[in-house]
Parts: sequence; C-alpha cells; structure tokens
Amino acid sequence: MPKRKFGVSISDSLAESLDNLCSVLGVDRSSVVERAIGNLIVEYSHHLVSHECLALLAIVCSEEENIQDILRDVRDIDVTQIHNHRGNKCTQVIIASGPSDKIAELYSKLNSIENCRVKYMALHDI
Ligand SMILES: [Zn+2]
Ligand SMILES: [Zn+2]
Repeated sequence: MPKRKFGVSISDSLAESLDNLCSVLGVDRSSVVERAIGNLIVEYSHHLVSHECLALLAIVCSEEENIQDILRDVRDIDVTQIHNHRGNKCTQVIIASGPSDKIAELYSKLNSIENCRVKYMALHDI
C-alpha cells in the first residue's frame, strides 16, 4: 500500500512514550502511529455514521460519582450496567445498544465528569 508522509507535532512527553512503546514492540514510529490512527478512525466512525450501535462503556472514578443521574436521563438506549466498588475506586461497565447518536451523547456526558476515566469500545463493525 502506498504511504503518505506528513509532519505532526506532539508533546515531548507523548513523543517519549511513543519511542518507549516502539522500543518495547520492536517497531518503528510509523507503524505504531498508523495503527493508532486506524483504531481511532474505527472508534469514531461509530460516532459519525448514524446506525444501530452496540457498545461497551467503562467508567472508572476515583470517588463515587453519581452517574445514575446521567443514566436515568438516557432515552432510546438499552443499558445493562455492572458496578464494582473497591476502596475509593468506583468502576462501572455499561453495555449500551440503540441509536449511535444517543450512545455518543451518553459517552460525551460521561466523559465530562471530573475525576473519571471513560473508555468506549464498539462491539460490532459498521
Ligand atoms: Zn456502532
Ligand atoms: Zn461505586
């Protein structure tokens, strides 16, 4: 496959992490960056293309954050929730199915909560 070259600017710390990862994996920067961009585009295609989606959202908060208010306001999405609380770490796994724009909206709301880390994973191809 033909390759295109272009320059990008990233922070020193991210560049250092990239170089460390390349060293561990034994591959060059282009391979890692190409894979990362490919994964990002696949992930975001679920937000950009309207469809019936099935996705997993994982939320880890350092404190008990009240995401129940956000989930209570969700409309048009089927939600299955798993909650695990250990020490001061609250972990919630949500399986969401329904219109992709509604799931993207839920993801954005969860992502806006301070002290929480949210992972989105589509569970199907489009
Ligand atoms: Zn989807
Ligand atoms: Zn909890």
